[in-house]
Parts: sequence; C-alpha cells; structure tokens
Amino acid sequence: MDSKTRTVEMFFFPFGGGGHQIPMVDMARLFASHGAKSTIIVTPTNALHFQNSILRDQNSGHPISIHALQLPDGVVSSESAMSATPFTDTTVLQEPLKLFLIEHKPDCIVFDMFHRWAAELFDEIGIRRIIFNGSGCLLGCVAESLRKYEPHEKVGSDYEPFVVPGLPDRIELTRSQLPDFVKDKSGRLDKMAKDEEKSFGSVVNSFYDLEPAFADFSRKEMGKKAWLVGPASLCNTNVTDKAERGKKADQSCLGWLDEKEPNSVLYISFGSKPSFAPGQFVEIAHALEASNHSFIWVVGKAFKDEENFLPGGFEERIKESKKGVIIKGWAPQLLILERGAVGGFLTHCGWNSMLEGVCCGVPMITWPLSAEQFCNEKLVTDVLGIGVQVGSIEWMSIKSEKKALVVREKVEVAVKRLMGGGDEVVEMRKRARELAEKAKKAVQVGGSSYMDADALIEELKSLKEK
Ligand code: UDP
Repeated sequence: MDSKTRTVEMFFFPFGGGGHQIPMVDMARLFASHGAKSTIIVTPTNALHFQNSILRDQNSGHPISIHALQLPDGVVSSESAMSATPFTDTTVLQEPLKLFLIEHKPDCIVFDMFHRWAAELFDEIGIRRIIFNGSGCLLGCVAESLRKYEPHEKVGSDYEPFVVPGLPDRIELTRSQLPDFVKDKSGRLDKMAKDEEKSFGSVVNSFYDLEPAFADFSRKEMGKKAWLVGPASLCNTNVTDKAERGKKADQSCLGWLDEKEPNSVLYISFGSKPSFAPGQFVEIAHALEASNHSFIWVVGKAFKDEENFLPGGFEERIKESKKGVIIKGWAPQLLILERGAVGGFLTHCGWNSMLEGVCCGVPMITWPLSAEQFCNEKLVTDVLGIGVQVGSIEWMSIKSEKKALVVREKVEVAVKRLMGGGDEVVEMRKRARELAEKAKKAVQVGGSSYMDADALIEELKSLKEK
C-alpha cells in the first residue's frame, strides 16, 4: 500500500454561523494535525475569517486547505460567517458543492446538520457522511427522550418542571425552556434522528470526562457511533490563532485585565448573535454597578439595537473607576478566559462558550437564551457543579418578539454569589480547575479525544484498503 492510498482525505462543510463554523474549522485543523488530509469547503466570504490560521498550519506542514465554492454569477450567498442563523437556507451552495464532490471523492465529509439538504446529496453521490451538530452528547440524548416520551406534553403549565425521562443524569426542564420546533411538533426532531441514523456517525466537540454518562448512554443505549474529539478550541495554541479565531478581535482589554487581582473579574458574553428583551442591558448595567465587581462585558452588535442601550453615564463611570470594560465588537474570548484575573464567566451557555469556560477552569453564571442552551445550563450547574443559574426561564428564538427580561435583582444576586468567593464558590472553582486539567489531557497524546480522532482516521483507512 503506497503512502498516498494510506492517507485519509476528510472534507469539512461548516455552516456559516459563529458557533458552528468556528468549532468545525478547529476540528478540521485538529484532524489535519493527526495526519488526515483536511479540506474546508466554504464560500469565498466565509474563508476570509480563518484563512490566516490555515496558512499558518500549512506553513507548519499540516495537510490542510480551503476550497472556496464558486457561486453562480449573480448569486450572492446569504450564508455569511457570524451572521447566518439556524433558519438560513444554504441550498445555493448545493450545485457548486455537488460539482466539486463529483470530481474529488473524499473518504468522508463532516457536515453541519444545519445544511438540511446535504445528507440526501451525499447519499446520492455515495460519499460517507459524518454529522456535526455543534453540541455535545447531551443534546442527542435529550432530543431523543423528548421525541420518544414527550414529557413536555404531560405537564400542567409552561413553567412546571419535568425531569427528562430515561437519562443517566438528572436534567430538569420546563416547557418554556424548549425550542418552538420541539413544542410545535414540526417534525424536525424526527428529521434530525433520521439523518443521523443513516450517517456513518458523528464527530462531537466534547470530551469523555465532561459528560461520561451521556457519552456512554449515547453509544451503548442509543447505539450511536460518536467520536468525541474535543475540546476543539484547544488546537489554538498560539496567541495569533486565539486572537483571530472567528474574527480579528480588539485585544486592548487584555492590558486592563492584567492589572487586576486573580479571580476578581467577571467576563460577560452571550455568544456571536445575542438577542435580548428590550431594556435588558439597563438591568445588567444596574446589577453590575450594584454588585461592585470588576467586569468585561461584550455587548457585541446588540448594542446598536435601539431597544438596548446602556444607562446614561454608565460607560463614563466604569471607565473612570476602572471597574469595567465594554467591548462593542468581537472579543478575544480565548485570550480573556485564560487570564488568571478572570474569576467568573456569565455566559448564555452556547456549547462552545461553555466548553471554553471549562477549558480555562472558570466557574459560570448561566443565562441560557435559545438553541439547546437550557440543557447545557443544567449540565454546568446540576451535573458538573461549576456554576450558578441567573434564573432565565424562557427560550426565545432569534426571530421571536416575545422576550423575557431577567430583572436586575436576579442578576445582582447571581453576580454576588459567584464573585463573592464563599465556600460554595471555592468548591466550584476547585471542580472547574480539575475539569480543565481533564480537558487538556483529553487532547494530548494518549488522551480520550486524541484516541477517538485517531480511531476515526484508522477506521477510514481500513475502509479505504478494503
Ligand atoms: N466568540 C468570540 N468573541 C466574541 C463572541 C463570540 O470569540 O465576541 C466566540 C466564542 O469564543 C465561541 C463562539 O464565538 O467560540 C460562540 O459560540 P457559542 O456556541 O458559545 O455561541 P453561539 O454564538 O453559537 O450562540
């Protein structure tokens, strides 16, 4: 067998939203570092957001490249990095992708489940497909239980808690915390299950020790083939990769952070596409001033929204007192979280942010908004014991009008509880640090994620030889 035949070729087809594209690009880089020839397939615009890190990997000898899909003349893709939402239709990519795949048949294609048309295309061409759902094993377990048992149909109100049945760890939710597509029986859960059933398996941005019970349940009870290869963000080992991940970030907050005491700063971010109830920023700002702890708050694009502005004089006061920094653009999240001064992370529980907090051993205040974030919250607080809940009770779609406000008193209580440093928090910090060590070990040679990545490559190799 010559070495060319032995080299496994993997394609990666990310979805152009922040929390999905970023980890899949990391994953392609991770597989390339294991020797798989990796190609990331994106639109030319999306390639701009990560091409520098790919160039650096190429210069280090990793077999990785980008294939930019040429869209038909006059067609503009609405799928642009950081702005696509789960509702974005990406079928415009179908034709150019098909042409590329017919010419270049890889050993597998890892694709994002939000490209809802893609599974059929890969089956038609005969390409082994591997699903990426942007989350952990927990999501698949909860989704399957909701689909099978419909516990949310058996409660008396939207706010009556129920335990998700049949799971190895206790996950308690309310109907108000479930996505619309679960409640309205749109058939999306069935479609997701069907797509997964016929796939070769799934690659998961998680590590075994983060969710051992759900990983085992998923593989043994549900019979899923899943390779847990994360945390993928740990492939960003140098400062430039970290600073440019997703978008080029403004690093000016880091100097401010470096002057702060260990564990004294709360980092606040709600992911790549935050969307809030009108007036939410005012509530947060009041709570922060009342709690009197230092903070970095990424207000992102939502700040431009005329319904969400900061109270008069707030920015001037926090600047003068050196109590806080507001980031209106893209924050260098990995670089912030790894600073010793950061003692807490107020997060919307996006899977990536949650994992990144875990990797840095930072306890969290959980404020889920949408997607599967309410499940992730329960993992952080009830299962892992490394966070406190702010008290968010309502799932809200990016599109939805009805948005629940979390009042300032609740925010203040949660901030004081986490940043106050009582015995409870000392324990949380200890558990968070232990988990961070396990995360790092997982991706090192011989670690569980390292071995899972190698196992997938080996399996693809043996299929090739057959
Ligand atoms: N992120 C960042 N800077 C920002 C906002 C987000 O680097 O200002 C990154 C963050 O580190 C994470 C991703 O964007 O990797 C967001 O993914 P997540 O799953 O947490 O949330 P989503 O954006 O999908 O809601």
